[in-house]
Amino acid sequence: MNIVIFGAPGSGKGTQSALLIEEYGYYHISTGDVLRGQIAAGTELGKIADSYISHGKLIPDELMIEILDDVMSAHPESAKGVVFDGFPRTIKQADALDELLAKRNQKLDIVVGLEVEEEELIARLINRGKTSGRSDDNMETIKKRLDVYNNQTNPLRDHYMEQGKYAAVHGMGSIEDIYSHIKAAIESIKK
Ligand code: AMP
Repeated sequence: MNIVIFGAPGSGKGTQSALLIEEYGYYHISTGDVLRGQIAAGTELGKIADSYISHGKLIPDELMIEILDDVMSAHPESAKGVVFDGFPRTIKQADALDELLAKRNQKLDIVVGLEVEEEELIARLINRGKTSGRSDDNMETIKKRLDVYNNQTNPLRDHYMEQGKYAAVHGMGSIEDIYSHIKAAIESIKK
């Protein structure tokens, strides 16, 4: 199965992806982690990525799509199923994801949307910033990232709803409870 874990910054995508990987053994692709890996390695791509990430902006679609294609090709185990975490973030990326999967004779099965109130998102991100060392976990950049999410990424919710692929999950409460709702959504489409 190919699963997208969708939601605003701070909605718990990384945490819940890790639980899904543990249980189902799918391949995890966090585009944010891929980019931070490039930054840490000091590559040219990392330098470009950093100039966007530290300002809370999205990496341009063309570049991001190319990076994802490369990651999928470099990891043949992704053919068994992927949890996409942080991708797609624009309609253009969503269309590209369909194409990337189609050329591998696959399709996107479900988009799990973690729905969390904005106040809670900000509190979580500020808290994460105390230990994450991330250049974008500060109040100024958090606000920009939430704007970007609301304007560019949130329209994907309707996009996937129209396709009947969107499963809304209330993303507040304990990690275990949230995970059990995600699991139920995934199991329901497996039948
Ligand atoms: P994340 O770790 O998913 O919160 O992503 C951190 C930052 O990486 C984002 O604020 C963007 O600057 C960049 N990024 C991650 N994924 C994408 C994507 N799919 N498209 C564009 N930019 C991305």
